[in-house]
Amino acid sequence: MKVLVINAGSSSLKYQLYDMTTEKVLAKGRVERIGLDASILTHEVENKPDMREVSEILDHTTAIKKVIEMLVHRKFGVLHSMDEIEAVGHRVVHGGESFSKSVLINEEVKLEIRRLFDLAPLHNPAHMMGITAVEDNLPNIPQAVVFDTAFHQTMPKHTYLYAIPTVLYRKHKVRRYGFHGTSHDYVSKAASHYLKRPLEELKLITCHIGNGASCTAIMNGKSYDTSMGMTPLEGLMMGTRSGDMDPAIVPYAISKEDLTMNEINSMLNKHSGLLGISGVSGDLREVIEAMDEGNNNAKVAFEMYVYRIKKYIGAYIAAMNGVDAIIFTAGVGENSSILRQKVCEDMSFFGIDFDEAKNVVRSSEPRDITSDESKVKVLVVPTNEELIIARDTYRLVLEAIETEKARAEAETFKPSELPEGSD
Ligand code: AMP
Repeated sequence: MKVLVINAGSSSLKYQLYDMTTEKVLAKGRVERIGLDASILTHEVENKPDMREVSEILDHTTAIKKVIEMLVHRKFGVLHSMDEIEAVGHRVVHGGESFSKSVLINEEVKLEIRRLFDLAPLHNPAHMMGITAVEDNLPNIPQAVVFDTAFHQTMPKHTYLYAIPTVLYRKHKVRRYGFHGTSHDYVSKAASHYLKRPLEELKLITCHIGNGASCTAIMNGKSYDTSMGMTPLEGLMMGTRSGDMDPAIVPYAISKEDLTMNEINSMLNKHSGLLGISGVSGDLREVIEAMDEGNNNAKVAFEMYVYRIKKYIGAYIAAMNGVDAIIFTAGVGENSSILRQKVCEDMSFFGIDFDEAKNVVRSSEPRDITSDESKVKVLVVPTNEELIIARDTYRLVLEAIETEKARAEAETFKPSELPEGSD
């Protein structure tokens, strides 16, 4: 079965086409600047030249049409016909309290995703545009949705509630949801496999450190607590997001700087974090480069970034009464050896015996970066959110086919066909 994975943003759309018999990516690409002038489509296939096309793509329906054209293209394509695409899986950021696992799309699911627009105004409407665009182009194809929040629906009340009047939770669902769930789920399972120990026995702390960043405490394979909250702004310091801060800063800054609600929101999401402190960049590579050249603001930004990851690890060790492994993943977590080293520095109290030589080895496979004797393991596990979306979609479609088969069999079942003597 070939499954197309879509991650739709408001003006962009990323895609990967999987062959699920081998779990191989047949093609991948992105459409950028949808609805703006000069939209760009880039398309990659192994052993074929990369394709880049600039044209006017006014909406998501046209973007999906272009993607399909590219997938069946005589020179750059990988399919003979679009009928070969048998299912589509979508990433959806917010599933609220309604979705604790991936589901196939139907009218009820679409309605619920729309109801959740308020909780993720920048993301869910864009995902919905992606879903509608697939319906417009491939009307009869099964589609599934995989939610960033679903994995964290196991968090207990005392970790997901905010200490504010509960009327806000009851009336408006103000609570902590957590994000990057597909990634935390995937790397925790990969870690259990690598350690050859059942997930149900393990206490894990997964650190998804990319452009956005979050840590999760996982006990018995279930999310117990995570650093992001009602939105992805809470928790760790990120590329351009502030992470945790005193909420009283918001009204204070608004009054002192005469800011609008949009301006303060933009300041906290797009101009804070590494960028806000270093004044250099939200990209850790550039911050480290500036730090190495003697930029003191960049040095402080890096120290804060490291310190806050350390703080969450310490808090989660206390919350779980121990830890078996700490896992680094995503753009920064997988690639920055200096970040991992600084986070794990001076953590021998917890039983971490960090191995600097192992830490600098590069690999696309899960690996251990502690000594063989280390009581607590530190692993680097490459994440793969698209593969999880493809797997969930494939599984849900197969289950639906089986259910339909059983239903059809039950419908055609005639008691007279029973062998004699049966009840
Ligand atoms: P992600 O959001 O997981 O795609 O991660 C993207 C981020 O990873 C980029 O913004 C970079 O800041 C960061 N990154 C990638 N490679 C490195 C590296 N070698 N050192 C530090 N940061 C990196």
